Amino acid sequence: TALIEARDVELAFGETPALRGASLSAGPGEVLAVMGPSGSGKSTLLHCLAGILVPDAGEVYFDGQRIDNLGEARRSALRRDRFGFVFQFGQLVPELTAEENVALPLLLNGVRRSAALAEARPWFARLGLDGLGGRRSGELSGGQAQRVALARGLVARPRVLFADEPTGALDSLTGEQVMELMVGAAREQGTTVVLVTHEPRVAAYADREAVVRDGKAKILSMGYAPGGAAE
Ligand code: ADP
Ligand code: ADP
Repeated sequence: TALIEARDVELAFGETPALRGASLSAGPGEVLAVMGPSGSGKSTLLHCLAGILVPDAGEVYFDGQRIDNLGEARRSALRRDRFGFVFQFGQLVPELTAEENVALPLLLNGVRRSAALAEARPWFARLGLDGLGGRRSGELSGGQAQRVALARGLVARPRVLFADEPTGALDSLTGEQVMELMVGAAREQGTTVVLVTHEPRVAAYADREAVVRDGKAKILSMGYAPGGAAE
């Protein structure tokens, strides 16, 4: 069955419809790429799946439980406890060191500072960031900063990693390195990945691809199929 699913989701920003009945799902451990032209509703759909935005109509399920009708506090707890995030521009906290940035989700989950930093450290060797733990984001290259953001997205072992154009600000070689690390680390810990991208080379790392057009989603390639049939 699906781990994360949107069913007939509709959402408008004022008069602008962004989603017009979008359905999409990803299974446990699956890497799903969500493609489509700019403005088609990819980010909005990702934000609905992640419990950041609440749809006007339709339903969102995580692990068999409906989540779109939960209150903000419970959705926020769900994001903190079960989801990880990577965005286009790393969005590291500039005042914190790279190591502290990676430790942040654990600190927010109530892990003590020393234990959180101890869990953050191995990610630096794993992602080719040896010796950079003490740097601040201003002292990192774009690719390094995005790898730190990736470590932060995965350090709390989320069930789902939501990645919105994670390579969008990187050159193609650096982007491929980030993708390889992201998909490798996610597979190792069984994390489902919902990856929004408009780059076919990035989508090629996914198990399955969906395309969003005019606020509707369509599965392009078969792999994991919820209930035995893809939309
Ligand atoms: P994509 O990620 O595919 O580029 P988005 O989900 O960001 O598309 O946007 C879908 C539509 O919703 C677009 O028309 C966009 O302009 C609009 N939109 C997105 N976010 C907002 C917002 N915060 N306020 C108003 N309109 C928005
Ligand atoms: P865009 O897709 O338009 O580039 P982002 O993906 O960077 O924008 O962020 C979209 C929204 O999601 C923002 O309003 C931001 O505050 C919110 N957001 C980002 N990270 C998180 C998070 N971990 N938990 C909850 N909301 C978040």
